[in-house]
Amino acid sequence: MNKSFDMKRVAIFPGSFDPFTVGHESIVKRALPIFDSIIIMIGSNANKKSFFTVEKRQKWISQVFENENKVSIEVYEGLTIDFCKAKGAKYILRGLRTSSDFEYERAIAQVNKKMYPDIETVFLLTLPEHTPVNASIVRDIVLNGGDASMFLPKGLNMDEFKIENMN
Ligand code: ADP
Repeated sequence: MNKSFDMKRVAIFPGSFDPFTVGHESIVKRALPIFDSIIIMIGSNANKKSFFTVEKRQKWISQVFENENKVSIEVYEGLTIDFCKAKGAKYILRGLRTSSDFEYERAIAQVNKKMYPDIETVFLLTLPEHTPVNASIVRDIVLNGGDASMFLPKGLNMDEFKIENMN
């Protein structure tokens, strides 16, 4: 019997990434051997004000993965499962830090599964050193003029994370 193994495993990594942190970077890099491609989906919500513009968030993530051809970045406003269907993706990638992440993620994953039975959510546990890293803490540091560079991917222009350079 001929077996066909050419089904591409496409994963969507959805999030607000406001901004993209070392925790997010680590999850994507660790997921690369599991999937054929990963689309980082910046969820944009016209009714929710973000801290960094979607253009900046997209640019920074593109810079982090500029040499990784299995990773692409897209902005999407709508249900993650609809984006998955449009991209032929059967996997949603998420990171887990704490038990409260788990409870939150469990509900989303189970609802997504109910609405789109073909989808599987794949969770990677954060590395211990990334457990406290959280985009809202990074925003607070930036807002208060602190140095958030240790929580941000290497290679980005840290001047762009200074409050005086934001508009
Ligand atoms: P959302 O607003 O949908 O929670 P985020 O941008 O905060 O989106 O995060 C996207 C995904 O990245 C989520 O699965 C989240 O749990 C995960 N994540 C965020 N920070 C970390 C971290 N430090 N380590 C591992 N996973 C993380």
